[in-house]
Parts: sequence; C-alpha cells; structure tokens
Amino acid sequence: MSLKFKIAVIILVFLHLHGGSQTYAWPVDSPRVITGNYGEIRPGHFHTGLDFSTNGKINYAVYSIEEGYVSRIKVSSVGYGRSVYVTHKDGKVSVYGHLNSFNSNIAPVVKNEQYAKRNYEIEIFPKPFSIKVKKHEYVGLSGNSGASTGPHLHFEIRDGQTEVPLNPLEYFSIQDTVDPTITEVGFYNLADTSSPHYLASYKVELKKNKTYAVKKDSVILNQGILGFAFSGFDQFTPKGNTNNIFSAKVYFDDRLIYSHTLDNIDFADQRFVNEFSELVEKTKTEKVLFQKCFVPTLHPLNFYDQYKNKGRILLTDTNFHKLKLSAIDENANERVIEFYFKTRKLNYYGKPSINSDVYVDCRKDFMIAKKKLQIYIPANTFYYSTGLIFENTIESTGKIIILPTDANLRTTSIIGFEVPPKYMRNKSKLVLKSGSNVLPPIVNHDSVFYSVKNLGWFLLDQDTIAPQIKTQMTQLLFKKNKKTESVSFRVTDELSGIKKYNLFLNDKWVIGEYDAKNDLITYFFDEDSPKTGDLNFKLEAEDRVGNKNDFFRTLKR
Ligand SMILES: [Zn+2]
Repeated sequence: MSLKFKIAVIILVFLHLHGGSQTYAWPVDSPRVITGNYGEIRPGHFHTGLDFSTNGKINYAVYSIEEGYVSRIKVSSVGYGRSVYVTHKDGKVSVYGHLNSFNSNIAPVVKNEQYAKRNYEIEIFPKPFSIKVKKHEYVGLSGNSGASTGPHLHFEIRDGQTEVPLNPLEYFSIQDTVDPTITEVGFYNLADTSSPHYLASYKVELKKNKTYAVKKDSVILNQGILGFAFSGFDQFTPKGNTNNIFSAKVYFDDRLIYSHTLDNIDFADQRFVNEFSELVEKTKTEKVLFQKCFVPTLHPLNFYDQYKNKGRILLTDTNFHKLKLSAIDENANERVIEFYFKTRKLNYYGKPSINSDVYVDCRKDFMIAKKKLQIYIPANTFYYSTGLIFENTIESTGKIIILPTDANLRTTSIIGFEVPPKYMRNKSKLVLKSGSNVLPPIVNHDSVFYSVKNLGWFLLDQDTIAPQIKTQMTQLLFKKNKKTESVSFRVTDELSGIKKYNLFLNDKWVIGEYDAKNDLITYFFDEDSPKTGDLNFKLEAEDRVGNKNDFFRTLKR
C-alpha cells in the first residue's frame, strides 16, 4: 500500500456482492475498507488489485472468495511476501498477498519445500486439487510481508489462462455514489514526434453554480499539435481514500478522440505506467501527477479503448475549440469537465529535441559500439523513436551519460564497456549507479555489461565491502526472557545489496525469514528447535558481486 498518494483518512465502505453466478465471498475479516484500487499509479507499475485495510494491524483471517484449489504458493522477501493463489471453477485465479502466515494445509507444504531447497524464498505449484479450499475457507492470516509498507491485504483476480490481472471491482460491486474528481487539466506539446513535452495546465474548481470548471477564463496556448492530460482521483465515499479513476473519455469539438479503461493490464506491460503518467514539477513546491490521454508510437495492445489520430489534437485555425473530459468510476459515476481553448499560432511537426545522427527506431533492435561504449536496445523497448546522444568518460571521471534522460523503457537495455586498466583487478566488483539503483556487472572477458531500466547518468563504483551483520540478541537478553520466540539479525549491504544468505543452528540449515524492507533475517523457535544447551547460530550472507560475510552468535538455553 503506497501511502504517498493517499489521504490518511479511512472511512468505512460498505459493500455488497453481485447477484447471479459470480457471488464471490469477501476475502478478509476486517472492516470493509478499500485503500487502493486497480490501476493506481505506483512507482514503476500500475496497482494490479485491491488493497483491503486491516486497521493497521496484522493477523486478520483471509478467506478464499470461492471454492477451488491452491495452484501456487510463493514466499518472497520482496513483492507480495507470502502469497496464496487459488484457482476457481470459473477460470479465475484469486491472489492473497503480504500474508503473515498460511493455513494448516499450506504451511507444512511450504516448510518442507524451504528445507528441501534450503531457501526461505520458494515458489510451489501444487498439483490441481491436491490442496482444496472451500468458499470462504480460511487460507492464512493477513500481514505486512514483502514490499508492503503497512499491514493490509493485497488481493487480485487474474485470468487463469493468461494470468492477466483483472479489475476486481468488476466482480465485487460496491456502494459508491461519489463522482470522480478532476483537479487539473493539461496539455502536452506533441510537435516533437520523439517525445511529448508538458506544455501547460489549468486548475479545476467548483464554481458558484455547483459545477466544476477550469479556473482560468480563457485557455490560450502557443502550440497547435497537442495532447490532453488530466490529474484527478476517485473516492467511494465523500471523505474516503483517493483511488485512481477507472476510465476516461476525451472529446474534441464533441467528437470522441480518445478513451481508456484501467483493466486487463498485463504484467509484461506494467512499466507502461511510466509513459502513461508523468509527475510534472510545475514549480519547486508543486508536483502534479498527470495521466496522458494520447497514444505513443508503441503501447500495450489492449491498453486503449478507442482513439483517433492517436488522441492528438491537430489545430488548423486560431479559433476557440471545445474540449470535454468524461471521467468515470467503476460504479459508472461520471464527472464531466468542459472548456474552450485556442492557440495563438499554428505550427508543424518540429525538430526533435535530441539532435543526433544516432537514431533509435523503436520498432527495431538497436545496437551501437562507439566511444568505447556498447549500447543494445531491443526492439519494442522505447515507446517513441528518438535520437540518442551518449558520452563515455568512464576512464577519467567514471561517468556515462545517455540522452534522452526522459525516455521510458518497457523492459531493459544493455550497456557495456571495456574495463579501464585501473579497475581491471576488481572488474567483477564494478557496479553502475543510476539514481537509487545499483547495478551488478555481467563480466565478459575484459568488458562489463549492465542491464539498465532507464537512460541518463551512470556512475561507476567498486563494491568491495561485504554485507554487515548484527544482532541485538545477547545472552543476557536471551536468558532474561524465557519466552523469546525469535532471534533477528540485521543484514545490510552498502552498494549491490543482499543476493543470498544461509542461516545455520548447531550446524543445521534452518529457515531465516528475510524481510528485505527492514533488513532483517529472523529465526523463529519451533518444535524442532533444540530445547536445551548451546544454540550456535551462524549466518552467511553474500552480496550481488560476491562479497561474503559470516556472523556467529552463541546463546545458551
Ligand atoms: Zn496492493
């Protein structure tokens, strides 16, 4: 649950279920509050399900929405943490994420697999019908595992065949009579075909006659090749959480030119969120998250419903024109914003902002070896074809720059270079930093390659420091508290991050539960733990460039 874009107000949302064949049961025992809907814009992905509030606490019972069988179980230190997937007769799969524990049919299967694989992180695909669940049967307790930033249930409904996550609110109807809210409308200049450029935006306000309208009386622009964008949110109750708006339609002079609906977004297309939305820094203190209502050169096949001219507005005169936005939520509540706008001058498609003789056709594989740098951009990685500028000063300053910085990548590209002589001894430890990312190298002879998810600045660094391991559990503390249930180790790594670890108790491999967001590896005492005598813990940890550290702690029972 990302709290960043949310108002911390929780209001109960009372929900009732569909009639007819699809009467799914409610998946959690907590009050019926949804704190995140499908299609919400999150860092690097759309939200692919619903977040159910668990009152900021863990251990609420989580239930299967329908009869079926457990088809997948996953335990991860990141992502959904502990999750259960249930396949149903109707071909849908329901997913329950960030769990704290599994029910008594699932838990032993997980534990066996963890010991068999000697890994806390496991993924199991049980045989169909080997672990059956009834409708409303308890599958586990809610939690905060994985990348969750606060206790809640992450819930999804997927198509069982394609595994595409569906919008669950098409299967659970909810009481919602609140119209979506549009806070701002904006325009992009699309004259540069290699990249849309944010142009201007206008606040929307409630007028005296109780209608919402653009605050400014006249919207006058200086460009004639335009794309429309909006910022807004939806609520189920007047003071409820702010969710994303399900669907938007744009009309230019009363003709529909664009529409999208947030549903059926394939996992392979999740990073499209970076192209679809943009956090625009209007001033130093004002950032606005826009959703763009125009279509890039390449895009996920099913993302858009309809469009003409790729949603582009091509003005051929300097008269006023009408723009209408219709924003619709999952319950068909609609907010309409209408306004008139014009341009002072007409223009034609212009020169791209990146003026380069190196050109990437987004439909084709691109490869270049120049300036002692190799760049490989697979076909269908960029959403627009664009010029490319790059500088390699690895040898002198340790830096690489590749422009355009704002190009969004659907997946990854590869950059590589020959290792400068002064780094040759440590070539396997050479990491590339970009923003908050630290990338480990793929070493090939005397060259290193990196799989990158963005362009811009890259800085070379050496990761020669092994993970740090500590524990606050001392013999004194352990002796004092007879009911100690667990021992935790704090494991941190400065640059490349933890790749793997092994925890041993009296020379036997044991499960150390890894909570990556809190840098904690925890051993929980259970019926197999030694009852008396010495407890010799050994924790081995290795980072992503192979630096290793062993940590020992002995506790006496
Ligand atoms: Zn979620």
